[in-house]
Amino acid sequence: MSSISVGQFPTCRPRRLRQSAALRRPVAETRLSAAELIYPLFVRGGRRTRIAIKAMPGVFQLSLDEMLKDARTAFELGVPGVLLFGIPARKDARASGAYARNGIVQQAVRLLKKELPELLVVTDVCLCEYMDHGHCGIVHRSAKGAKILNDSSLTLLARTAASHAEAGADIVAPSDMMDGRVRAIRAELDRAGFEETPIMSYAAKFASAYYGPFREAAESTPKFGDRRSYQMDAANANEALREVAMDIAEGADIVMVKPALAYLDIIQRVKTEFRYPTAAYHVSAEYSMIKAAAANGWVDERAVTLETLLAMRRAGADIIITYSACDAARWLKQG
Ligand SMILES: [Zn+2]
Repeated sequence: MSSISVGQFPTCRPRRLRQSAALRRPVAETRLSAAELIYPLFVRGGRRTRIAIKAMPGVFQLSLDEMLKDARTAFELGVPGVLLFGIPARKDARASGAYARNGIVQQAVRLLKKELPELLVVTDVCLCEYMDHGHCGIVHRSAKGAKILNDSSLTLLARTAASHAEAGADIVAPSDMMDGRVRAIRAELDRAGFEETPIMSYAAKFASAYYGPFREAAESTPKFGDRRSYQMDAANANEALREVAMDIAEGADIVMVKPALAYLDIIQRVKTEFRYPTAAYHVSAEYSMIKAAAANGWVDERAVTLETLLAMRRAGADIIITYSACDAARWLKQG
């Protein structure tokens, strides 16, 4: 701050530029538009199925036909992309639904690329929704307890990413937090002829209580233990920078910080340090807290949502993944 020279009152009156919307608008330092938003969608089997997620009002598990409707709505509102999560019919100990050629996400990708070719289709690459135990990697049980294996999980993650690319995904987004997975995925994509498919890595993903409502949506609650042996500790910011540096070195094209609201400092440091395309995931509980407060009449949902998303942009996020994408796009259109 010391390098910024500031004049003194009464020569300087900051309020001069705050007198009207017409004056405030051109000097606004940060912009929020629908073009920066990505809308997450939860897909499952069936037809005409739309199952409400209780803890996330306005969010649903959708069959393919219903998913297509919501993706089209988002696209028509100016939201350029969706992020797909799959809810498979069956789960097992090898997450075989994650990389099945006709897995639920693979079907969703093909349908979206056929019907809405201009829509950016991003796929979440993880194993937890497809594992019977709900963890993001292969579990090894011994007398000492259960361990999430790192290196053998990489093979399955890489296979999953390649199967999404094969179905037509525009971007693959690994969220598992295994060490070395970006490198493994990059190598497998290249080997399979998808060297042009970008990777958006969940580079700094924290073990967070803010994921609570998501687990109902994705049916991915771990059956035992928690994810603290692979997701980051909320206390660590320098480690987040190391995680991001490693992912960039391994071939990540976009790096993500998750959650967003309680981690704005991390977003800011990542953007300042690396100047890389940076995404923020405005996670389920961040969304649900605003919804709950608004339902009680305690906050203005529109104003609080837009202020929250703007804060993520101001912190340095180029892309925001948010359940509010369609609402925000509508509100921003209204001006
Ligand atoms: Zn996972």
